[in-house]
Amino acid sequence: MTDPCPELARFWRSPPGERLSVQAGERRAGRVVSLSLSDELRPPWLPSGQAIPLWLEHRVGEASGRTLATFAEDGRTHAAVVESSGRVVFCFDPDETIASILNEAYFTPRRPIHTYVPLPYQLVPGSLRLRLFQWLVKPTPDSPPGVLFPSWPIDGSVETLRFMYRRALAIAGAPALESAHWPNGKRSAFAISHDVDTAQGFRLIREVAAFENDLGIRSTWFIVGDLFGIDPSVLDDLRAQGHEIALHGDRHDNTIAYRTSGEIERRLDAAARTTARWDVRGFRSPSLLETPTLRRVLRERFVYASEVPDTEIDSLIAPRRGCGTCFPFRREGSLEIPLTLPLEDKLIMRGMNEAAILEHWRAKAAWVREVGGVVQLSIHNEPHLLSKCRGAYAALVRDAAADATVWRTTLVDLADWWTRPAHGNS
Ligand SMILES: [Zn+2]
Repeated sequence: MTDPCPELARFWRSPPGERLSVQAGERRAGRVVSLSLSDELRPPWLPSGQAIPLWLEHRVGEASGRTLATFAEDGRTHAAVVESSGRVVFCFDPDETIASILNEAYFTPRRPIHTYVPLPYQLVPGSLRLRLFQWLVKPTPDSPPGVLFPSWPIDGSVETLRFMYRRALAIAGAPALESAHWPNGKRSAFAISHDVDTAQGFRLIREVAAFENDLGIRSTWFIVGDLFGIDPSVLDDLRAQGHEIALHGDRHDNTIAYRTSGEIERRLDAAARTTARWDVRGFRSPSLLETPTLRRVLRERFVYASEVPDTEIDSLIAPRRGCGTCFPFRREGSLEIPLTLPLEDKLIMRGMNEAAILEHWRAKAAWVREVGGVVQLSIHNEPHLLSKCRGAYAALVRDAAADATVWRTTLVDLADWWTRPAHGNS
């Protein structure tokens, strides 16, 4: 008998679930369905009676027994998980469902029109850039019709499936699974990343880093490779203080993802002096624009990439997108550490003030901590954005600095931990 859910088993380092089986129906067009869970399978973070939107690519399989979860689809209800004589049967394939969400296979990304004409980012004033961005993404209304996927600002799809799997094993009498992922028994991870897009942003580095240093926080700084006229001693000092330098593209023109692999290689070669001098091991594509071609090049050159939000609205490539998880995973063989707090520019674009931004961040951080995942606050070091959320950022960092249950780390240390041989994720 083949082992059901090998990906889930690997994530939890669990023994084969011989008392579980998967009985999905035949393949059909992908669509969003609503998953409702009995209390036996329901994660503590999910209010009773609240359904989870999920992307499904097969018909729901048939199985009889005690119903533990249901799908609502086209006005009908199907059993999604049943228990029968001590066996648990999934009427869909949770592994495949997770894979299609992690890879964002539920939508076709559009190529933003401005990437056909490179944007001279550093020449466009910040406030104009924000308005331009707003025009490019055409924000969706707050309550468009239909079931929305992924949910925002919290999408529990992948983590709910993982939780269900663990509970299903318990119901089927399998040994309890280990749940600690982080060093020293910490229950969740916390990382800050700063995107430094322009020379104006670069000039703020020392000031922002000083605040973090005072709190004992070390963060990751994504620097554009060809920022002209920068003072390299700023980055030398960051490294000496324990911060990480990572690469935010060779240029911030938003086009690298759409080049051939040979062109991407040449562009990254041009940033080789930056990567060598500061031991750069992480990459984030400008404006989070990525393609499978870019990913495959990154896989060979960087330990990790961090350029996929767990859930996002008003993105340049789709009204909604996201990998649905707050844990690292692999895409095209390259380790991805997702961005899990809503990006400040999206919140500012929606007219939120600092109090509202902090409320959004705190609520999301609390959820990720409960799940035990990675709270990653990604924030621009650009004056036109930082000036609108600096107090919220400072409050959130102080929260994390005071929380003894949190592993505060840089992204590269997190990647090293996640891929160490004992985890089997290398
Ligand atoms: Zn950027």
